[in-house]
Amino acid sequence: MKNRFATGRCFCGEIEFRITFPTDFLAHCHCQSCRRSHAAAFVTWTSVPLERFEFIKGENDIAWYRSSEFILWGFCGKCGSSMLYRAEREGHPENPRPDRMYISAGCLDALDRSPESHVSFEEHSKLLDGFSEIPKYRGKTDKKID
Ligand SMILES: [Zn+2]
Ligand SMILES: [Zn+2]
Repeated sequence: MKNRFATGRCFCGEIEFRITFPTDFLAHCHCQSCRRSHAAAFVTWTSVPLERFEFIKGENDIAWYRSSEFILWGFCGKCGSSMLYRAEREGHPENPRPDRMYISAGCLDALDRSPESHVSFEEHSKLLDGFSEIPKYRGKTDKKID
C-alpha cells in the first residue's frame, strides 16, 4: 500500500475531506440514480467506515439531497460536485450500510485498489458503446494516443 490516506476535493476546492485506507471496495455503478446524480455515464464508488472519514474543510458547505427516507446524496453547495452518499438507516433494498461513508472515487487523489466490478450493469448507458475501440487523443488535439 503506497498511501495511508486519500484526500477528496470538489471542483471549486471549498470542500476537502480525508479518508484513511483501507477502502471496502471499488466498483463502477451504472444505475440510473448514480448516472443522473452525477450527470455522468457511470459513477465509481468506494466506502470507508464513518470513523475513517473526516472533513478537512467545508463541512457546512455540503448540501445533502434526500432521494428517499434512507438515502442522502452529498454535493458541494457552491460548485455542485457530487461526492458523498449516506444511508441514514437500514432497510433500503440494496443494503447500503449506515456505518459507512460512500465516496464518489473520481474526487479522490489516491486509491488503495483497482476497480473490481461493474454493478447494476443491466442499466448501463449507451454512452459506453465502443468505449475501448474509439480513437483516443491528447487533449482536444488530433494527436492520437495508442
Ligand atoms: Zn465545490
Ligand atoms: Zn448506482
